[in-house]
Order: sequence, then C-alpha cells, then structure tokens
Amino acid sequence: MRYVSTRGQSPALSFEDTMLTGLAPDGGLYVPETVPVLSPETIARMHAMDYETLAVEVMRPFVGDTFDEDELSDIVARAYGEFGHAARAPLKQLDRGLWLMELFHGPTLAFKDFAMQVIGQMFQSVLTRRGERITIVGATSGDTGSAAIEAFRGLDNVGVCILYPHGRVSEVQRRQMTTPDEANVHALAVEGTFDDCQRHLKDMFADHGFRDEVRLAAVNSINWARVLAQVVYYWWAGAALGDATRKLSFSVPTGNFGDIYAGFIAKRMGLPVERLVIATNRNDILCSAVNEGRYETGEVHPTISPSMDIQVSSNFERLLFDALGRDGAAVARLMSGLKQSGGFSLPEGALAEIRAHFDADSVGEEETAEEIANTLAESGELVCPHTAVGIDVARTHLDLSVPMVALATAHPAKFPDAVEAATGIRPPLPNRMADLYDRPERMARVGNDLSAIQSAIRELRAK
Ligand SMILES: *Cc1c(COP(=O)(O)O)cnc(C)c1O
Repeated sequence: MRYVSTRGQSPALSFEDTMLTGLAPDGGLYVPETVPVLSPETIARMHAMDYETLAVEVMRPFVGDTFDEDELSDIVARAYGEFGHAARAPLKQLDRGLWLMELFHGPTLAFKDFAMQVIGQMFQSVLTRRGERITIVGATSGDTGSAAIEAFRGLDNVGVCILYPHGRVSEVQRRQMTTPDEANVHALAVEGTFDDCQRHLKDMFADHGFRDEVRLAAVNSINWARVLAQVVYYWWAGAALGDATRKLSFSVPTGNFGDIYAGFIAKRMGLPVERLVIATNRNDILCSAVNEGRYETGEVHPTISPSMDIQVSSNFERLLFDALGRDGAAVARLMSGLKQSGGFSLPEGALAEIRAHFDADSVGEEETAEEIANTLAESGELVCPHTAVGIDVARTHLDLSVPMVALATAHPAKFPDAVEAATGIRPPLPNRMADLYDRPERMARVGNDLSAIQSAIRELRAK
C-alpha cells in the first residue's frame, strides 16, 4: 500500500513514511493510492468482534508491511486498554431511527483519543525499531494537545511539547495537559493567542536548523494515521446495529473534516453508508461549500462548541482530490486560489460528486443550547455542545427507513459551563478522573516569542 499527495508533486510513500512525514513536501495531504474493499466474509463476521479485533481487520490492509498482524494487535490493545468503557464506542438509541455513538470514553474524554492513542503506539513501535528519538510539537486550543500528551506520556522514543494560549483554554483542558507527570511530556503556556501558537509552530517547522536539531515532528489532524484510526468506528457502528451489510447514515459534528472524511473512507471500503451529514456551528464554511459550491474563508466566530471554530477545513482537500478525479494539479490550482483570494468555486462535476455522498447543515448558538436541553428531556442523555450540533442536524435529515448515527465527540463534563447554562445541570467528571482538580500541575510559562519557545523546547528535551 502506497500513499500519494493530493497535489501530485511528491513521491509516493509507504505507510510508515507517510505517518512520520505528516504534510507532503508539495503542500498536499497523503491519501492511499487505492482504497481496499473488505471481503463479504470479513464484513459478515464483524458483529461478533470486539472493538480491538475489528480495528485490526479494518486497519491491516492500509499499513502494508509497516506492522504485521501481531504488532498491529499489540498497538491496538495498548491504545484502547485504558478506555473507560468495555465497548470502547457504545451506541445508545436516542429516538426512533436515531442513535448516538459515544466516542468520549478515552483518557481525555473526546473522540480525538481514538486516533491519538493509536498513533502514539505506532510512533513508539516504528521509532524503537529505527533506534530514533523525535520531538513532537503541537499547538492547541484545547482538545488535541491533551489527547497528544495522554497518548505519548511515558513513551521513551518521543518527547512532546504542546503550546497553548495562557489563560485561554478551559480548566479541564488545561489540567489534562499539565497534570501528567512523565518526564517526556510538557505543556508550554504561551503569553498569546491560539493563532500566535500556530504561527510559532509553523515558523519552527520552517527553521530547518531547529527542525533537524530536535527532530521535529507533528501529529496534527492531517496525519493519515489519525484518519485511518477513525475509520474503524464507522464500521463498528454498522456491526453494533446488528449487521454491517445494512444501510446506515451518519451525522458528524465537523471542524477540520478529519472525522467525517474517515466515514467516507469506510464507505469506499464497502460499508453501505447512505448519507454522510456534515454538521457545523455558525462557522459554516463547509455548508456553503456543499450547498452553494463556494469555499470561502471568513472570520472565525467563537461559539459554545469551540473545537469546531475553524476557518479552513484542512482535510477537505482529501475529498476534493477524489471529487476532482484524483487530479493533483487541479487541487493545487484551487488551493492556490484559496491562498491568493481566500476562496474558490467548486467545479460542477466535483460538486455533484460530493453531493452524491454528503449533506451539510449548520446550527446556531441558541438552537445548540435548545438541543442540549431537548435531548436531555426526550432521552435522558446529557450531551456536549458539539454533540448537540450533530444531533440537531441528524433530526433534520432523519429518514426513518435508514438508521442515523450521530457521533458524540466529547463528554459533557468537558464543556460544563455550556451544558449547565442549557440545562441547569453541571455534568460531573467520570469517577476515574474525579481527582483531576486535586492533581498538581506542571507547566512552563513562555513569552510570545519564537526564540524563547525554541529555547524552552531545547531545555525540556534535555531533561
Ligand atoms: C476536534 C473536534 C471536533 C471536530 O472534528 P474534525 O475532525 O476536526 O472535523 C468535533 N468535536 C469535538 C469535541 C472535537 O474535539
């Protein structure tokens, strides 16, 4: 299995190199040269598999000879062993034809754990084999940083430094980054905004001397291995509903398009997905793209579902590549239009291809709060604001002849203020992390300045 860039100018890579490289040198994202289709026999056996067994079946055709079956089984076992639910991703019925898949039983209470835990174990395995040590640096507005710290804590071939804007992440998010005490993971509180953190990160990757000195690497949402780990739970949903050969649809609260794109890969592997419904908050660039054919960046509006407050949806480029008949030059042209004029129009054929699989809808702030209250009243479930966006859109697109699965992307206790404002109930943390507020915190404070951040990373790395 080889991976090619969506902009067509970089050489094809193995799974291992794709994972370690992240972004392609031509600025594109790696995608598999061909998507493997699962055999009817494998699909028929799925309903009897546990999550880990299913994960190995789904991921194995994509990893080539990077991992053999035993290695992949070990990786998956270590990745999901600490989850707080035996089913890993349990499904609950919310209403007639409407199901909720809970993706928040991992260590940081958000779906990003599903991919980050796997990628942590994959990196460790490959780097041990190569005898190498790398430094992962990331910038976070909350969820991704804590998921990375949890995934890599205690793994000796990887150091992790996460930049976050001081005073601008929620207390739960901050504590999840600052309380792990392993010597290889570090939280850096930057005196600046999230955009400042991202800018410094970009500049660090452009500084080739520094990049080579610390063996800089990234695990952001464009990493193919993260997308792959998320393909698994779409299959899991089909199997959990009794039979992965029956039609089903998904409603996915979407920001960077990584999660829902994984659903599209599951469909191309043979899962009979009827509709993939993109659910956004008022940052609705993807809705205009699908419904009006115009992809146009604007200002980011802060919302009560902050993990979807994005301006550019980076993984959308992967879908564009497919919709444009895998024409890398055509993708590169649209992306340069985006860079130069802040937007582009989708060609008719590509738009039709996208609409054949996807619907899209956005939900305002008030409707989101109402949906949190409504879901509690109708089904007794307390949901986070991102999840409420997905449920609200799922109800609009419900077709009773095909089950609809809405993805619950975070635990309500991760966004307690919004949930309390909507329902009057402050969701408690699950028992296994009830002492989060008592654990000692550890962080390095740094000025809003690239060289200060680079010195801090050098120092932490040496520890
Ligand atoms: C990251 C995140 C999302 C958006 O996922 P994408 O893959 O960026 O589309 C939705 N909900 C929560 C809680 C998240 O952390």
